[in-house]
Amino acid sequence: MRDFTTPNIILSKCIEHDNCRYDGSKINNDFIKTLQSYVNFITVCPETSIGLSTPRDTLRLISKDNTDNFDLVFSKNGDDLTEKMDTFSHSFLKNLCDNDIDGFILKSRSPSCGVKDVKVYKSHGKSPSLPKKGVGLFASKVYEYFPDAVVEDDGRLTNFNIREHFLTKIFTKSEFKNVQKHNSMKSLIDFQSKNKYLLMAHSPGYLKKMGKLTANTQSKDISDIIHEYEIYLNKALSISSKPNRNINMLLHLFGYFSKYLSSSEKAFFLETLEKYNDKKIPFCVPLTMIHSWVMRFENEYLRDQTIFEPFPSELIQTRDSGKMI
Ligand code: SF4
Repeated sequence: MRDFTTPNIILSKCIEHDNCRYDGSKINNDFIKTLQSYVNFITVCPETSIGLSTPRDTLRLISKDNTDNFDLVFSKNGDDLTEKMDTFSHSFLKNLCDNDIDGFILKSRSPSCGVKDVKVYKSHGKSPSLPKKGVGLFASKVYEYFPDAVVEDDGRLTNFNIREHFLTKIFTKSEFKNVQKHNSMKSLIDFQSKNKYLLMAHSPGYLKKMGKLTANTQSKDISDIIHEYEIYLNKALSISSKPNRNINMLLHLFGYFSKYLSSSEKAFFLETLEKYNDKKIPFCVPLTMIHSWVMRFENEYLRDQTIFEPFPSELIQTRDSGKMI
């Protein structure tokens, strides 16, 4: 079991925390309930923070000129809250900039918090929604202030792959904060070494660039190297792992053990990889086989590889909505 650094996550308050939705309800969410033991949640309800009561009339995004300039208005009477919401979002997010924020989980489809796929209307009142979709007003400011943060909504996190990717990103980024705090070449090299196979699964190209940086052949300043490394890390982590990259990474790991294995064990592993490639079994099956060899052959270097536990295993939930929302 790894020691994890606790990520700081901004959460829409109506998810599991407060009955602050327009109709006075709260969203129950088992994943968030479990997650709260492993992260620091900082909750926010932008709508009640600008003084709206609960319950309240519904709000909507409108696009008067059919562009991506959205206004936030009351659906019934059109009273405009755009300026108030902009002012609140700027001041809330600006104050957060000094905290180490690793990610955001916002309420899906809300005209304030929705990170994508929010309905957009031509006007208030009885007007049909437009074919385009938008981003909630508060969420759009999140992207401005935290361009590298990991942002998801509760709806997308019901998808197994999106959820695993989200968790991998926030726990890896949170771990990287220790490198920034130590500001030493040793901590950067340790990070690169432990995350080698995880990064290989996301992007062998960025892994190579990050390896070159840690070699520091040009004797750059450590702060500059760490800053550059973080840019590559964010880019690498933003790429979802795919079967072909996972298989490439697993074959590299397999290389450590093939000389100790019997021919039937090797054949069985390669058949398992084929089944994974054909989507007949999940990624965890060949990975667990490798992990068992790490322990059996007492491979000290691979034992600490984060690919075997990129986030606390208690957070693994096999539930999958199957929706790529
Ligand atoms: S979606 Fe956002 S603004 Fe709406 S109730 Fe939830 S936290 Fe508040």
